[in-house]
Amino acid sequence: KALKLVVTGGAGYVGSVCTARLVEAGHEVVVVDDLSTGHADAVHPAARFVEGDAAETAETLLAEGFDGVLHFAAKSLVGESMQDPGKYWRGNVLTSLRLLDAMRAHGTPRLVFSSTAATYGEPEQSPIPETAPTLPTNTYGATKLAIDHAITTYARAHGLAAVSLRYFNVAGAYGGFGERHATETHLIPIVLQVATGDRDQVQIYGEDYPTDDGTAVRDYIHVADLADAHLLALEHATAGEHQIYNLGNGTGFSVRQVIEACRGVTGHPIPAAVAPRRAGDPAVLVAASDRAREDLGWKPERADLAGIVSDAWAFTQTRRG
Ligand code: UDP
Repeated sequence: KALKLVVTGGAGYVGSVCTARLVEAGHEVVVVDDLSTGHADAVHPAARFVEGDAAETAETLLAEGFDGVLHFAAKSLVGESMQDPGKYWRGNVLTSLRLLDAMRAHGTPRLVFSSTAATYGEPEQSPIPETAPTLPTNTYGATKLAIDHAITTYARAHGLAAVSLRYFNVAGAYGGFGERHATETHLIPIVLQVATGDRDQVQIYGEDYPTDDGTAVRDYIHVADLADAHLLALEHATAGEHQIYNLGNGTGFSVRQVIEACRGVTGHPIPAAVAPRRAGDPAVLVAASDRAREDLGWKPERADLAGIVSDAWAFTQTRRG
């Protein structure tokens, strides 16, 4: 059944790819984005676009009557969240609370929320299941966890059908939509900037981790696989319940392995230099996504790292051309 949906943050990386998948599946999408980090030309042409703050816009827009909200709009730079926590508590938590209240006021039944592996902090076990302790080590993760707690109570008290999806390391591109942050902190786009000549070398943040090659290990998931989980979450959302799912491939790759994959895809030597660890970076973050597979019937179709990198590389090159 075609749904009428609001997508906050639909001009951003994950939001733009999800919008593309939603539109392709026949849903009607209104994108709300203040363009603080997103790009107007990343809004899918088949979506209606309202420029503005997610909460403020939702307070009036939702009166039109919607089947659900996919809430991607957020501040997401870990380093910045430690230097200016207020920006994250206001920008993430306050905005989400106002959005929840607007949904309640207008009777919007469904919410799919972008949560994160950062809610778990430094994990005690690997791969990480949803039952693992949530002890975030940075403000960004703490704000996302606070919103998850708020959603749980709103679902119980007000009958909201809610799903939080905890993203591991999202990468790749889809349908001409990809990652292009003004301040790039993510490993794959940074390595590809070396291949395009925009950067001289990549810095490896720490070579003394307790991993096979000493560099940190992450679970890289293709953005289109991630988007598909959002469509399934909409279908499976149940009134009065807040379901939480980890989304990753369940396989970890080290920083060195990622750089090697980028060398293979681009044919560029990609010089790398070892630098100190980045504060707050756990050694290994790998998802146990059994719950999403079992409950949602989700299955990542693009788990191959070289394939993920190659989609990101194709996107990087079209953006340049
Ligand atoms: N990383 C790195 N050099 C960079 C950027 C990232 O070595 O220029 C490492 C980072 O320390 C982490 C991994 O690559 O271990 C993934 O980092 P990213 O910022 O992409 O995602 P995160 O896991 O922090 O969400």
